[in-house]
Amino acid sequence: MNIPMVDLKVQYHAIKEEIDRGILEALEKTQFILGPNVTAFEEEAAAFLGVKHAIGVASGTDALHLALAAAGITEGDEVITSPFTFIATAEAIRYVGATPVFVDVDPKSFNIDPARIEAAITPRTKAVLPVHLFGQPADMDAIQALCTKHGLLMIEDCAQSFGADVNGRMTGTFGALGAFSFFPSKNLGCYGDGGLVTTSCPELAERVKVLRNHGSKVRYHHSVIGYNSRLDEIQAVILRVKLKHIREYSEGRRRVAHLYSELLAGTGATPPFEDGKGTHVYHQYTLLTDRRDAIMKALTDAGIASAVYYPIPLHKQDVFAADYAGVSLPAAEEVASRCMSLPIFPEMTEEQVRRVVDVVKSALKA
Ligand SMILES: *Cc1c(COP(=O)(O)O)cnc(C)c1O
Repeated sequence: MNIPMVDLKVQYHAIKEEIDRGILEALEKTQFILGPNVTAFEEEAAAFLGVKHAIGVASGTDALHLALAAAGITEGDEVITSPFTFIATAEAIRYVGATPVFVDVDPKSFNIDPARIEAAITPRTKAVLPVHLFGQPADMDAIQALCTKHGLLMIEDCAQSFGADVNGRMTGTFGALGAFSFFPSKNLGCYGDGGLVTTSCPELAERVKVLRNHGSKVRYHHSVIGYNSRLDEIQAVILRVKLKHIREYSEGRRRVAHLYSELLAGTGATPPFEDGKGTHVYHQYTLLTDRRDAIMKALTDAGIASAVYYPIPLHKQDVFAADYAGVSLPAAEEVASRCMSLPIFPEMTEEQVRRVVDVVKSALKA
């Protein structure tokens, strides 16, 4: 039994008719850029998330970039973020000329530790950019309180947290802006690149719209230097179909995660938390173990995928190493050295989960 990290094929086959029909209709309509499906998806996503504006863009990386640009973050500014995330979080901060300031994580949630943020605030700090890593909301109450106290903007990296909520309020609605990715393997994924910026502020929404479309509000009138960063019509078709199923997809992921935790209980190889604050949508099921290499080898030998998200915290990446020479962020370094993620996707069967767990358990016994 080969088990991939995520099985996009089973999902496609379950919704194939609707997807294929929608794509063919879009091909007949030939309105490929900023067409009716993009507008409809933006409205449907805004309604689902509970936010006033949702603007489709070309990727999650662009969503972060345009959110930071729309917020006026620029050269000389500092943005506080997590060192334990995908590189795009920090890349986007650099794109606008600002400096990412990495604040260590809480090893129990893998998310930025709010208790450490205040000490990193300087007169140059303009924003805090928490990442809802692996689908678990970062501590929104604490981070929002800090942002209010210090007059900072919050911009959320929701690339892994579509549909995660805190007391019914979705991630992507707490900050001034939220940035989502629709990379195929994300919880809501399209069949190419795609992203979304959310905001309830009409001025910020307008700025993102202008930025994604060459700095233009009225065709061939350009007020600022913008970008070519639009969500395309075909991807919007796919996203509209999948958005209708997103609650069931999140439930499927949670079912798999809870079964993993139940079966792995007592082995020492379980996530450092169960559901914490808010509803975890398990983009990844990530555990901490001292036996990572042995477990991963056993899984590979059994035809089961596994992955290390992320092996190197950002302050240790070559691209940032010079700026962070001598800086130690012990919790991020520790989780990076012990974390590993098991296959998880909404359609994963109990049999598949049990098979993965059997292999993990025998590797731990060996
Ligand atoms: C995937 C991801 C991004 C980037 O999204 P793309 O759509 O691949 O550009 C940004 N941040 C995090 C945390 C991600 O996981």
